[in-house]
Amino acid sequence: MSLSAERIAALRDYVPRERNLTIGGRAVEPAGERWDVYNPATEEVLATVGGATTEQVDEAIRAARAAFGTWSKMSGEERCAAMNSLADLLEERWEELLASIVNEVGTPVSLAEFLQVKMGIGHLRWFAEAAKKDRTVHLGPYDIPVPTESDVDHYPVGVVAAITGYNYPLNLAGFKYGAALAAGCTVVLLPSPRTPLTTLLLGELVRESNLPDGVINVVTGGADIGQYLSSHPGVDKVSFTGSDAVGAKIMAQAATNLNDVVLELGGKSANIVLPGCDVESFAVDMHLRWSRNAGQGCAALARLLVHEDLYDRFLESGAAAFNQMKVGDPWDPATNIGPLIRPDHRDRVNGFITEALEQGGKALLQVDTPLPEKGWYVNPVLLGNLPHSARAVQEEIFGPVAVVLPFKDTDEAIRLANDTAYGLAANVWAPDLAEGRRVAEQLRAGTVWINGGGAMRPDAPFGGSGRSGVGRELGEWGIREFLEPRHIQWAV
Ligand code: NAD
Repeated sequence: MSLSAERIAALRDYVPRERNLTIGGRAVEPAGERWDVYNPATEEVLATVGGATTEQVDEAIRAARAAFGTWSKMSGEERCAAMNSLADLLEERWEELLASIVNEVGTPVSLAEFLQVKMGIGHLRWFAEAAKKDRTVHLGPYDIPVPTESDVDHYPVGVVAAITGYNYPLNLAGFKYGAALAAGCTVVLLPSPRTPLTTLLLGELVRESNLPDGVINVVTGGADIGQYLSSHPGVDKVSFTGSDAVGAKIMAQAATNLNDVVLELGGKSANIVLPGCDVESFAVDMHLRWSRNAGQGCAALARLLVHEDLYDRFLESGAAAFNQMKVGDPWDPATNIGPLIRPDHRDRVNGFITEALEQGGKALLQVDTPLPEKGWYVNPVLLGNLPHSARAVQEEIFGPVAVVLPFKDTDEAIRLANDTAYGLAANVWAPDLAEGRRVAEQLRAGTVWINGGGAMRPDAPFGGSGRSGVGRELGEWGIREFLEPRHIQWAV
């Protein structure tokens, strides 16, 4: 982390000033319903924001449509330069973005600098470069029924509705508008009503950047505005990040216009510890990973499958990891577990723990230091002694709760890992890469890490199958979601 104690002190009370929507390059006062946005660590109201009206959503879609005419015809170099001008502003104002995220999401500052801000700026620069790529493929001669040749080039789908979840406001938006802009599309962005402040600030930076007016528009609102936007006839594609329940609604809403969707939904990702592993060497990493962002991460590896011979060592070494978990003030650089987003979500997470214990589950490891008086915190816990069919094992909890199950042999581990409605991510701890690879290739998940893997790469696809979603974000795969192939054939 690069922030000094003085900078932290200066930033901890920061709340972005920006409350306006961004429509067609202008700041527009929201004329819809108003609501309070809370700091989940203090339970205090951070800001009151206004939502867009349906007329303002119409206006944003018209602005995106008008901008599409210009943006889609600009050269890759021109689009790259304009996108980089936004990345420059994000970099210049990174401390404000960080402070906004820490205060509205509750992510500890020690994690948020890289995970919530800097990684995403790097990804935007990758998309800017990718805007320059010529994707035309020459197919060569084809003689039936007459001699011809063909090219396949691509055209952008048009106006994209981008709707995001609350947990990574800047990155989730960036994965969508980065890919859409690289493809030549324009965007209407709707952040979660629980964490809209960072995206409103992003809108301000969009207005200051060299992006043509209307290329990125930012509106606010709740489920009603999300529904209006995703079923709007002026939208060509809907890209959504959030829960599987809302994802299913989005699919139905977009179907009104026969629109395609990209859905980035939840998960219950497996983390397999194969026989022969040096479990002590990765215990801390493993437990700090699923509890990161208080477990509010779609790819949290919270279903731990451990070979029975390693089970006791796994629990002993896990205790050391739990000792390193510090729950509390997100601005304390030593904190690694912050609060959950709202009290109803905290109660839901606690409900999973209570139910599991009532069903005979055991809290095998837990942090039991007193929780701060204010803030919607839950102490991390590792649950065990549950059947694989238990709700806590099968459903996404989205809190600092993991479950562990022993397995007898690697085939059983693979079967259990795939015994899920989701298919977002997995990790394999293996004694060597060849064995890790052998197991990875049998897992039904959009991303599989071996022995810990790394951070999300801008050039690799991210997304999942089953209830984890439809389509992919990031990389060339993410850009292709916003391009239509066009076959051009000519007689020779
Ligand atoms: P959510 O589904 O409750 O809400 C997401 C967004 O949908 C919000 O902006 C909300 O206002 C909007 N919305 C609600 N009803 C709508 C409707 N009918 N039509 C259109 N929009 C509507 O999700 P959340 O609680 O904000 O986020 C947590 C979920 O997101 C978790 O399930 C998590 O796994 C998932 N997630 C997935 C990824 C990924 O890349 N796969 C990344 C982050 C989060």
